[in-house]
Amino acid sequence: MLGKPARQRDVTVSEVGPRDGLQMVHAVVPTATKCRLIAALHAAGLPEIEVASFVPPKLVPQMADAEAVTRFATTLPGLHVAVLVPNLRGAEAAIAAGAQKITLTLSASEQHSQANLRRTRAEQMEVARSVAAHVAGLDAARRPSLEAGLSTAFGCSLQGAVAERDVVAMAVELAAMGCDSVGLSDTAGYANPAQVARLVRLVRAEIGARCDSLHLHDTMGLGLANVTAGVEAGIRIFDGALAGLGGCPFAPGASGNIVTEDLVFLLESLGLDTGVSLEGVVAARAILAEALPQEPLHGAFARAGRPTGWQPAQVFA
Ligand code: ZN
Repeated sequence: MLGKPARQRDVTVSEVGPRDGLQMVHAVVPTATKCRLIAALHAAGLPEIEVASFVPPKLVPQMADAEAVTRFATTLPGLHVAVLVPNLRGAEAAIAAGAQKITLTLSASEQHSQANLRRTRAEQMEVARSVAAHVAGLDAARRPSLEAGLSTAFGCSLQGAVAERDVVAMAVELAAMGCDSVGLSDTAGYANPAQVARLVRLVRAEIGARCDSLHLHDTMGLGLANVTAGVEAGIRIFDGALAGLGGCPFAPGASGNIVTEDLVFLLESLGLDTGVSLEGVVAARAILAEALPQEPLHGAFARAGRPTGWQPAQVFA
């Protein structure tokens, strides 16, 4: 059961576990296991999966097989294949491998930018300009959608507070240079629902629905509360990671991503159709458990199952 095609869903759940999750675990998961995992997530109805990041293998050995994994993912029918890139070289390799969505990462925090990307925010803005120009020059058949992913948009574990005006100014500049969308990432997991509502509204006041996605971590246990605030503010794409894997090597103290299973359960409970089979996602956990026996798997839904008599509400429908 693949559920509805993406265009008929109310909300898109974008699974980032194969990228954000597997880059943080110490073990290097074999390519064949990654492909099995991605196939299981696709079979569960996840419409978009961020399958890899195109970064130098000497920096992130877990992603050395990005090209093979991306090529495999493009064979799965109907899947929107997303990848993360830090620079033009990564974008070119990702496009050659067939990626359909490219997320270029930038940091709203100056300190995180220098730790994570080894470039200042201004230098990474110029990288974004070169990637946007490259993508714009491709013919339509090969052209992926380009998202600018603004890390540490809600706070940074290195620098502390991040000015909202900086996030808004970066989003405006990125939209103006031709990025199709701007996603806001709570890399450190410091956001609260009032902050999410405010920042999404501030950015959308400038660039409208091009600010369309949230990437949330659960460091303070507010990840799902932040999803609800995002839904109310108009966001309809949410990243999650199977079993809540993930973090950021340059965001000390940050915990994993919000748990995909619990994200789907929340959205469905709010009356929003995700097209994702919860049972299918839970089944995909078995592949992780087998591949990474040392890694703790998180998530309330996998532990508790569906409440007796559960019915989705019609709050936002
Ligand atoms: Zn993340």
